[in-house]
Amino acid sequence: MVIQRVLSAGELAVTRHLLVHGPATRQDLGDRLNLSYASTSRLARALVDGGMASEALEPETAVGRPRQVLAAVPSARHVAGFKLTADTVHGVVCDMFGDVRATARAALPAPDATGAVPVAGAVKVLAQLTARLARRVPTLDGIGVAVGGVVAGRAVVREGTFLGWREVDLAAPLAKRTGLPVIVTNDVTALAREQLWFGAGRAHATFGVITVGAGLGFGVVREGVVVDQLIDNGHLLAHAPVDTRGPRCTLGHAGCAAAYLNREDLSRRAATDFAELDRARSAGDQAAAELLDDAARALGHLVATFAGALQTTCIVLAGEDVAVLTASPALNETIADRLRPGAFEVQRCALDVVTTPLTFTDWARGAAVAGVQNVLGEA
Ligand SMILES: [Zn+2]
Repeated sequence: MVIQRVLSAGELAVTRHLLVHGPATRQDLGDRLNLSYASTSRLARALVDGGMASEALEPETAVGRPRQVLAAVPSARHVAGFKLTADTVHGVVCDMFGDVRATARAALPAPDATGAVPVAGAVKVLAQLTARLARRVPTLDGIGVAVGGVVAGRAVVREGTFLGWREVDLAAPLAKRTGLPVIVTNDVTALAREQLWFGAGRAHATFGVITVGAGLGFGVVREGVVVDQLIDNGHLLAHAPVDTRGPRCTLGHAGCAAAYLNREDLSRRAATDFAELDRARSAGDQAAAELLDDAARALGHLVATFAGALQTTCIVLAGEDVAVLTASPALNETIADRLRPGAFEVQRCALDVVTTPLTFTDWARGAAVAGVQNVLGEA
């Protein structure tokens, strides 16, 4: 396989702009990226020569002569993305725009006596899936792997929450087996990377991501830069108090957000999960509706607290269980109440809360987009 060279800073800036905002004239690019016309022309030529971009004449307009329009070539790079759950690898292969070209999945080896998924076996499964996905695209340029937990240096799984992993270097053996550049990332961080280019990031330089699924997850993008590793893996927000008279979480906090929103905590309390509660609510079960309203209220408080601390007007809500919670009016009521001004104040902002329910394929796509960014040399 051919390892593509990493783009120069200027080439990356132009490519990123074309991927995020679509085709642009050299003039537009120069204005938006603060480049001279000569620099823009040089970068455009380099990208066209390298197959990253194509240039075509804009259709003749009434005024002036037609202009050259530069566009990114979707097939210039392909990257495989994987999301690891406790027992399964979900894989996709994406083009440079993050469009899924094929999917594949496979079971992970069963945990050993210590409760940890064998690493060598997991690497073998990932390499086999990579080979399978590589056959579906002209060339494969890299790999992105997303796991729940703490990842250091884009390579080492420090705490693999659902895999029983501690200090597992996943990137090195996978790169060795496949000969491809590998980025390993926290799964919510991968999602934040995907949103930065192809979602909320198009309109907001700073935003937060909250995922509700097997656990509560948090992602942070500040001034266009993804925070790779949170200082607390989201612990401080997950255990923020909501109602001190509320139920206790596994750590013993009374009425923290996790007590209402963690699948484990909820199952212990309600003896069921969000999906089951959703069905019961639809069937008219009042107790189920109240539990979901309480969870939605806790999520509303998290949205408001996160937005206030991060100083952003945009929070992305994602994950397998999020649609069940946004169906409750308690979510928006709580956010509106938190924004309500005092007697001699005006409401100073509104919050743009974006909901994207996710399948495992979407999670894998986030990993692939993180892989594309890695292959292109994005920080
Ligand atoms: Zn707690």
